[in-house]
Amino acid sequence: MTARILNGNEIREHIYAELAREIADLDAAGVKPGLAAVLVGDNPASHIYVKSKIAACKKLGLASRQETPPANITTQALLRLVTHLNERDDVDGILVQSPLPPQVDAKKIFEAVDPAKDVDGFHPVNLGKLVAGRPGLVACTPAGVMEILRRSGIEIDGANAVVLGRSDIVGKPMALLLLHANATVTICHSKTRDLPEVVRRADIVVAAMGRPAMVEASWIRPGATVIDVGTSRITDAAEAERIFAHRPERLEKFREKGEVLVGDVHPDAVDVAGAITPVPGGVGPMTIAMLMSNTVKAARLRRGQKSPAAAGAKR
Ligand code: NAP
Repeated sequence: MTARILNGNEIREHIYAELAREIADLDAAGVKPGLAAVLVGDNPASHIYVKSKIAACKKLGLASRQETPPANITTQALLRLVTHLNERDDVDGILVQSPLPPQVDAKKIFEAVDPAKDVDGFHPVNLGKLVAGRPGLVACTPAGVMEILRRSGIEIDGANAVVLGRSDIVGKPMALLLLHANATVTICHSKTRDLPEVVRRADIVVAAMGRPAMVEASWIRPGATVIDVGTSRITDAAEAERIFAHRPERLEKFREKGEVLVGDVHPDAVDVAGAITPVPGGVGPMTIAMLMSNTVKAARLRRGQKSPAAAGAKR
């Protein structure tokens, strides 16, 4: 059996098409949703992430602004910047790119963002709303996973779902979203006993550990849906050869580039699962799509409008 590939790039384009219509409607009503990205210092990876987020705004016709305080900024100065963005009416979404420099109290900064503009869904108020099943802004990656499942027609109601990882930004919100969609949810972490046995009971597996290829094909129940959130960059040839022993085309690519992105799920799981997200090209593209969706949602909610049912940000 070869699994159906759940293509995140295709799903993202559907979401973008829906958002473009919604943005045009808002535009006709004189509203242009805007995202402010705060990029502190010179972390090259952060620069790439913020650049692609701003590019997505431009592609969709959202307003965007970028704040680039220096790496030596103090917590107080960054708090003043966040307060300024909270007060600006043309800013609907605020995203503070992680990681922040060590001298900055990151928790204080994230908690200073107005929950109504917290498009990353990290603020305790939004996490609380998620626990209570009330409308709010939901963390982008787990929200994107829900879009993949729903738009691919995967049955969640009554399914046994196993979430590997319990971080505040992926594992926990993921488990809550699945629970609200009526799955029976098990959350696993580094102290979970007999992980393979737990995973074998799952109709839906969401792996978010950052452990390259750890979930072996033999752990997957035949026909199960596998969502691979993990992304690890592999540069070690021996490791790549071990992981891609049965995937010569991936090994070939590794040899060309000297690196490869690997998920938490072993690539051989494609022969057992019923449906699976690839890495790259599965969950990754959804994260920015949901950030865009959250920005439009925030613009609506701040003006007392509900999102239309067709919007990608529903849960
Ligand atoms: P994190 O904060 O490091 O959390 C990792 C979680 O995995 C923790 O709960 C940890 O358990 C658990 N874990 C680690 N090793 C384990 C093991 N051997 N067995 C069972 N559980 C284990 O990571 P994160 O921020 O949630 O991200 C997870 C992965 O998703 C990373 O690869 C990250 O790059 C990727 N990610 C991808 C996207 C995307 O857009 N595609 C977005 C966000 C994150 P403990 O709590 O017990 O330590």
